[in-house]
Amino acid sequence: MNVKKIENIVKSTIEKYAKLENKNTNPGYVISQRRPSIEAYEWSVKRIVPLEEIKQLLKFHKVYYKGYKNGRGLIGATASIAWLPIHDKTYELITYRDEKKWGTDRTIDDKSVKSIDKLCPSTFDNYDYKNKRNRITPNSPCPILYGLRGDDVEELKKSFYIVKSEPVHSWIIFETNQGTDDHLQKKNISEIKPYQSIIAEGIVYKNPYTIKGGHVIFTIGNDLTGKIDCAAYEPTKQFRNIIRELLVGDLVEVYGSVREKPLTINIEKINVKYLTEKIEKLENPVCPNCGKHMKSKGKNQGYKCILCKIKSKKAVERKKVRNLIIGFYEVPVCSRRHLSKPLKRFR
Ligand SMILES: [Zn+2]
Repeated sequence: MNVKKIENIVKSTIEKYAKLENKNTNPGYVISQRRPSIEAYEWSVKRIVPLEEIKQLLKFHKVYYKGYKNGRGLIGATASIAWLPIHDKTYELITYRDEKKWGTDRTIDDKSVKSIDKLCPSTFDNYDYKNKRNRITPNSPCPILYGLRGDDVEELKKSFYIVKSEPVHSWIIFETNQGTDDHLQKKNISEIKPYQSIIAEGIVYKNPYTIKGGHVIFTIGNDLTGKIDCAAYEPTKQFRNIIRELLVGDLVEVYGSVREKPLTINIEKINVKYLTEKIEKLENPVCPNCGKHMKSKGKNQGYKCILCKIKSKKAVERKKVRNLIIGFYEVPVCSRRHLSKPLKRFR
């Protein structure tokens, strides 16, 4: 088939099915017999790419392309054909619905989705147990029934037979960059810029605190390396309880994307590398003569027994118990980004 013929099929399919009246629908297609440089992919997952840059590249490659409406669909289209699984890859088995079902509620048996986790261990992000939600169905009224992600094609096919659902119209397995952390790059705190997705190491500078809306914020870094705020936003649910356990002096490595105002890392994963030892006051000292607790003489003034007049400088102290252990923690399945690598795949 010649390219012009292919283009006509692609064009008429988009124009027939795309919901162009939706303001977030901005499709685009790129048809090329040569793969654009992988840089086009790297740019688009690691930073914000100006559309003009992509258009220049497409003109240079003399390919067939078209961007509808704001044209930004061209960026994703170019990135996807430029991609090569150099670092990592996963697979997704996508099933489609009958056209008459599009836009209606999807019928999927959650119990069968949970059993994939047991029977097909190389699959991931199937079900969020803490928040009781299956994660294989999309939220949009699109023609997709569900997508099963995993490391092994054979297990994905097996999972397909385990999921109980409304009739599947058709299915296909894609090679993908989902769950690969391809978007992340290691940065020093001082180099971090808005819209990047980064891995950065730092010592906790300011203890976590909760702001309006239930978001938990803390700061890493110091005056030499620079400082940056990190956030576990409300949708990350239970993950925030991990973050709340951090203390000034802990060493962490955070994984996430950077928002501009205020400059904040939106944490997807955290590697707690060192927990500081904190001494806390347990109680006032006990008088060695009468066995009663001494009274404080004022801030930093020490303690004194009122009856026996015996003095002591120090309170009874103990090491603060940390409800956190060293290691990786991730946001729950329900708030995980598609590109974010699940800890399950860190092997
Ligand atoms: Zn006493």
